[in-house]
Amino acid sequence: MSNTDFALAVEDLTVSFDGFKAIDTLTLYIDKNELRVIIGPNGAGKTTLLDLICGKTKASAGSIKFKNTELTRMAEHKRVRLGIGRKFQTPSIYENLSVFQNLEVSYPAGRSVFGALAFQCTEAVREKVRLVAEDIGLLAKLDTEAGLLSHGQKQWLEIGMLLMQEPELLMLDEPIAGMSARERELTAELLKRICRNRAVIVIEHDMEFVKRIAHKVTVMHQGKILAEGPMEQVQADPKVIDVYLGH
Ligand code: ADP
Repeated sequence: MSNTDFALAVEDLTVSFDGFKAIDTLTLYIDKNELRVIIGPNGAGKTTLLDLICGKTKASAGSIKFKNTELTRMAEHKRVRLGIGRKFQTPSIYENLSVFQNLEVSYPAGRSVFGALAFQCTEAVREKVRLVAEDIGLLAKLDTEAGLLSHGQKQWLEIGMLLMQEPELLMLDEPIAGMSARERELTAELLKRICRNRAVIVIEHDMEFVKRIAHKVTVMHQGKILAEGPMEQVQADPKVIDVYLGH
């Protein structure tokens, strides 16, 4: 298969911090509508891998291609423009603005004039806000101040803010941390919905949740890939049981 069949092609990627290889000649391909979950013990390099893909950290060697464009040395903001979205664990929403306004200012055209909030909300943007709000289950909360939302709703709002930019690759770091059972269930449905239009990479520790959402699982250990495949295959792998699942 050629690289053009993948949304993301990471090849021989390496990053060293003071001589320590946090990512070590790692190769990974993600399909266009794939929901990939990355698991592995603490310190395996999961967060560093996502940092390298979004440009927060620069690689020491190897390559990252997205939609067949070389990203490896591209600045972080240019990767966002190219369609890469990243959500961290702590939501970065505007607590004093309504859900509607949070989504509205996340629309790429709305960004540059956010300071003055002078952005004229066109009908097209309003429609986009409604569609995204429906996707994240917050349509009935459009006028609610974001600071008043529950923990889970804040996490969904941040996903919605990223969706406003129509990313073709969305990366999420432990999206269900601190959520109730019902919120976890709704998040699983949300992730399954959003990967219909893009590739999604999730770092997750909750194995029940991983089983529910993953098309494929990548197990990382010491900056390398220890195993990769469907969850049933990965969880039966003695190497994986030894370094991660058996503990
Ligand atoms: P995980 O997300 O799987 O828990 P990380 O990617 O956070 O693992 O970390 C992988 C390894 O790289 C750890 O040993 C961590 O201490 C190290 N590391 C990550 N970022 C840096 C950095 N900026 N400087 C030095 N070491 C780092």
